[in-house]
Amino acid sequence: MPDGHKCRRIHGHNFKVEVNLLGEVNPETGMIQDFGEIKSIINPIIDMLDHQFINEVGEEKNIPLLKIPTTENLVMWFYHEIKPLIPALYSVVIHETDNNTCEYRENW
Ligand SMILES: [Zn+2]
Repeated sequence: MPDGHKCRRIHGHNFKVEVNLLGEVNPETGMIQDFGEIKSIINPIIDMLDHQFINEVGEEKNIPLLKIPTTENLVMWFYHEIKPLIPALYSVVIHETDNNTCEYRENW
């Protein structure tokens, strides 16, 4: 961040992540995909970032989008991490605060 920008200094966020699916409900299970399964896919990714200096995670793991961890970059990275395991994934939304939100989906 440039000099004088309020986000230049190290600071934290209480991100909220929303994972949205779009698809047919399986008539046998009554679900698109089991919530428990979705949580087991998402939780390791959240654990990787929770209480971490995300810029350092980006450097250590060489993940370009995390080296500049804006909410825009986080949401794109998160989406592409989980998409292979959640085929019906429609979008990911990250709430940086109650007022600041980014949504990412592929077809827009
Ligand atoms: Zn910030």
